[in-house]
Amino acid sequence: MSRQGTHRVAVVRDERYLEHKPGLTHPESPQRLQEVYRMLDREFGADLTAIPPRAATLEELELVHTPEYIEQVLKTAEAPFTHLTLDTPLSAKSYEAAWLAVGGCLAGGEAVLAGQADVCFALVRPPGHHARPGGGGGFCVFNNLAVTARHAQARHGLERILIVDWDVHHGNGVQEVFYDEPEVLYFSSHQEGLFPGTGDWTETGRGPGAGYTVNVPVPLSWGDHDAVHLYREIVGSMLRRYRPQLILVAAGFDAHLEDPLGRTKLTAVGFGRLAALIMSRREAAGSPPVLLALEGGYGPLALAESVHQVLLACREPAGYLDQDGVETGLGADLVQRARLIHDQFGVWTEGGRTE
Ligand SMILES: [Zn+2]
Repeated sequence: MSRQGTHRVAVVRDERYLEHKPGLTHPESPQRLQEVYRMLDREFGADLTAIPPRAATLEELELVHTPEYIEQVLKTAEAPFTHLTLDTPLSAKSYEAAWLAVGGCLAGGEAVLAGQADVCFALVRPPGHHARPGGGGGFCVFNNLAVTARHAQARHGLERILIVDWDVHHGNGVQEVFYDEPEVLYFSSHQEGLFPGTGDWTETGRGPGAGYTVNVPVPLSWGDHDAVHLYREIVGSMLRRYRPQLILVAAGFDAHLEDPLGRTKLTAVGFGRLAALIMSRREAAGSPPVLLALEGGYGPLALAESVHQVLLACREPAGYLDQDGVETGLGADLVQRARLIHDQFGVWTEGGRTE
């Protein structure tokens, strides 16, 4: 911390992320980041450390993805328009943006692990959490955060990484990559019944990874107080008991009440409160560094304001923690159900209590 209660915040940004153009009517449009970058210039100027992305190496991509799939993406280079999958069209420069989206997260991760900042927000596209080892989809090409986690394990020897996914969709790609191992604890809250259809309560990990995947499907009425309640109890317990050495956040903003794809009711300030919770409660884990990576969020103005609030909350969490103690019926129900399922593993619960 540079001042009491104040964190050093960095961002990754690059104009080349705007060159991924999936089509005029596609929700994952360049306007999303254009609006976010405009907000950065207007609200923060030079206050935030800017980290340029680097190109990921082939070896790094292969930490998660198959050589065949990587080649399939590279073959789309310079073709005016191809479909990776039906919902994920690519333009001529999409492969480069996707490559740099991984590299932006790697650069951000390296910066926080080296102590150059306490927290970094990689403002990249295309998003990543639906990308699986052998294929993209759901607007995702490469799994930006999964590669970052694998790299942190391989290069920095990390043994415990927490991935928190507050995007309104389930991060099926992230889950698949780490489903069998205890070295990565994956927590996702997502709207029930939505794409891609995975993320049921009963998907809890496998073998040595049993209990290290935690899914909480939420109903449409899910709002700020419910989210804060859930994250305070579950993520708070994970920080105390799992003690991650690095926290990665799949930061999608399509759970926002104005989002055209998600139907839940979070606000921009609500996302700020989730970020503030993570930033303040991570002290229980020895204050590990935090990297957020942009995932979904399809109303450009709501997205930009949500990122704004998250950056403010990362810098000075105190102002977002006023209502930290509010309990909600829905929040309590979700926490209770998660405990019932996960008590048997004891990864983050203890005898039915999360304290
Ligand atoms: Zn999403």
